[in-house]
Amino acid sequence: MERIGFCGLGTMGQYMAANLRKAGFEVTVWNRTPGKAGDLVALGCREAATPADVGRSADIVVTCVSDTPDVEAVLFGPQGVASGLAAGGMVIDCSTISPDATRTFAARLAQQGSGWVDAPVSGGSEGAKNGTLTVMVGGSDADVERARPVLSAMGKTITHFGPAGSGQAVKAVNQVVISGVYLAVAEGMVLSMKAGLDPQAVVAALGGGVAGSWILANRSAKMVNNVYPLGFKTSLHLKDLGIALDMARALGASLPVTSLAAQLEAGLVARGYGDEDMSNLARPIRQLSGMEG
Ligand code: NAP
Repeated sequence: MERIGFCGLGTMGQYMAANLRKAGFEVTVWNRTPGKAGDLVALGCREAATPADVGRSADIVVTCVSDTPDVEAVLFGPQGVASGLAAGGMVIDCSTISPDATRTFAARLAQQGSGWVDAPVSGGSEGAKNGTLTVMVGGSDADVERARPVLSAMGKTITHFGPAGSGQAVKAVNQVVISGVYLAVAEGMVLSMKAGLDPQAVVAALGGGVAGSWILANRSAKMVNNVYPLGFKTSLHLKDLGIALDMARALGASLPVTSLAAQLEAGLVARGYGDEDMSNLARPIRQLSGMEG
């Protein structure tokens, strides 16, 4: 069995690393801020002092950190993964980052004889915890086949779309789609409350019809209660919409709903709500209707 390294023990990474350990892999973990590996060490993971140490201890290193510069720092910064990883090693990046930068990172690793798979995920913290993530994969056929047992320990639906960067391009599409659904569910919940309907009964009934969605089922109650525990941080979704809107600009696509969501999220971040779950897109929709938001 390949030895696995894992860098980034945030909302997602802590559960993903735990599922790798539970699947029987030897796992070495690292997090920038110390003190986050306790539960994983109790499960039998080893904690490393630096990303380079993770690289030295592993055949395949999984990264799950916030943004493009963060992946670059963990891989290629001082004491980065790449400085420890032996030729023949591989990186699987589960962060959501720029497809263009992804291709650059893959090429840099190839120069030292290391493989690359971009494997951004969808499914929320619940999916990470339950090992049921949807994984959007880019990389060579050989690298992706090698990565598959690792991906299968963290996710359920694993789709290979093409060369390095294509997993990230699909993830951008995913973030565009959910922008509209969050906004529409928020509007539906506000209208339900204004009409004096029981939102729980509305959600239960609509869930079986064409309006049904994961977001309606799992996030509408937060919008009704105006309380937004994590989840997925609004600041991270705004970062993802930046990636999608950059792609759209470069490719000549027009995404008006995505642009609206990005502006509303920028307002939420400015008001200090960036660390809440992104279902707080309901805040501005509630406010526009005279409700607390
Ligand atoms: P999070 O809870 O904010 O955790 C971010 C992690 O990245 C932390 O471990 C953080 O370390 C680390 N990090 C950030 N910048 C770093 C740097 N420069 N160097 C080293 N480590 C750094 O985020 P998350 O929700 O787990 O998301 C992680 C990635 O998965 C993001 O790209 C996100 O877009 C994507 N994602 C998230 C979800 C979700 O539902 N949460 C779903 C799908 C995809 P510290 O502890 O030191 O801050």
